[in-house]
Amino acid sequence: MTRIAIIGGGISGLAAAFELEERRRAGADVDYVLYESSERLGGVLRTEHIDGCIVEAGPDSFITEKPWATDLCRAVGLGDQLIGSNDADRKTYILTNGRLVVMPDGLMFMVPTKILPTGFSPLFSWKTKLRMAQELFHPPRAVAGNENDHDESVAAFVERHYGAEMVDRLADPLLSGVYGGEAANLSVRAVLPRFAEMERTHGSLGRAMLAARKKMSVGPRKPAPPLFTSLKNGMQHLAETVVSRLTPSSLLTNAPVQAIQREAESWVVSAGMKSDEFDSVIVALPASAAAQVLRMACPELSAELAAIQYSSSITVGIAYDREVRRSLPPGFGFLVPRSEGKRLLAATFVHNKFPHRAPEDRALLRCFFAGRNAEDVWPLTDDQIIGIVRNELQQILGLRAEPLFARVYKWKSAMAQYGVGHLDRLDRMERLRQQVPGLALAGNAYRGIGVPDCVRSGRDAAKQLAGA
Ligand SMILES: Cc1cc2nc3c(=O)[nH]c(=O)nc-3n(C[C@H](O)[C@H](O)[C@H](O)COP(=O)(O)OP(=O)(O)OC[C@H]3O[C@@H](n4cnc5c(N)ncnc54)[C@H](O)[C@@H]3O)c2cc1C
Repeated sequence: MTRIAIIGGGISGLAAAFELEERRRAGADVDYVLYESSERLGGVLRTEHIDGCIVEAGPDSFITEKPWATDLCRAVGLGDQLIGSNDADRKTYILTNGRLVVMPDGLMFMVPTKILPTGFSPLFSWKTKLRMAQELFHPPRAVAGNENDHDESVAAFVERHYGAEMVDRLADPLLSGVYGGEAANLSVRAVLPRFAEMERTHGSLGRAMLAARKKMSVGPRKPAPPLFTSLKNGMQHLAETVVSRLTPSSLLTNAPVQAIQREAESWVVSAGMKSDEFDSVIVALPASAAAQVLRMACPELSAELAAIQYSSSITVGIAYDREVRRSLPPGFGFLVPRSEGKRLLAATFVHNKFPHRAPEDRALLRCFFAGRNAEDVWPLTDDQIIGIVRNELQQILGLRAEPLFARVYKWKSAMAQYGVGHLDRLDRMERLRQQVPGLALAGNAYRGIGVPDCVRSGRDAAKQLAGA
């Protein structure tokens, strides 16, 4: 019998456990124990039901294009609970000089694919619009020597193509909504690999995007799936349902792992006053916690893990009555460039983005702080943070009404920051990992921070150790 320990009960660890459970039920001679330090499983997947509203404390959905979370939902029997975003109403605003300006149609991240909407948009100055036109003549990157593998920050990359205003107005706010970090600190190869590849092949991102669209327009057109997918009852429902498919005696909560050690042919996992022996271990923790538990067993790997930075974030769910719902603009919400001098980075109009999230007579907003902005407000009380949210919503939306309720959720160092050189670090880590038999890593520190990538990483780690 192969015994596998899984450290961490977030969605990465749960996905690994589910993979092993399925194999066990199919007759494989494998067993597992999952260790979770807190009293609840699911990690940052947390949903509260308040006054008829479904309030997401952590992730509110996942990208449909990446199939692994949807596949897991279907595998655990949640196929009929999947919901798509209301893309007919998909408008996002950018706060620009104190006013909400709608993101022009045809922008693919920061690459314009339609001339007129971008040309007439007040989002960009004439200088940036000129840069967009010039970008179409951007030469392919030199491929001599190692140049092909050259990494740089997203900010530097976007600035080379479109100038600094594009970094401030679009790249930075879009990425801070996903990574909670700043474009100046994120690796273009790790965070925007498709764009780095487009530059390599076409030089101009605009031309590459137009070429890709041309290719797609050949053949029959399928209706586009919704951009985001979620669950009717919220993201926590996924974690709970996965847990309900696992063997209860294999799940240990309130069990913080202090260390894992290689001894002879096995791994010894120490949690509290107890230790247990396993053939292999999946470490499904945020990188800093993974570094801590691997400190003794693999000091070099631990040092690489410790160097992966994390950003903290705060979400505030805030609800209003029917009058406010009527008065809010249509669309999914707004992003706030740092140059606007606000503390909020984004707000989602949840009642518009997804069905079933708020009753017809409620407006539900999800406000987001991350990185430096989150650190600034971190020491404040919940009431003070709600005060900042209300003050800024008043400035941005003219919203003066009393909220029906408001909840603050703080996530310390939960979002991995893929810094410049991240992929090289992962290569070094993989070489170090291969030197220790029976060790696999899963989680958001490696090749994707979103829920689908975490699910994929957990299941792949289990396959790696239990045999594909
Ligand atoms: C506010 C927020 C919003 C997000 N929004 C989205 C979104 O909309 N869409 C999307 O796709 N992604 C989103 N993400 C990202 C995504 O949710 C996370 O990257 C993913 O859920 C991380 O899962 P995980 O299991 O790797 O880590 P975690 O959820 O952090 O789980 C790790 C677990 O390990 C436990 N642990 C820590 N140390 C130990 C130890 N020593 N021993 C045992 N257990 C330990 C922790 O208690 C925790 O339960 C968001 C993240 C945050 C924080």
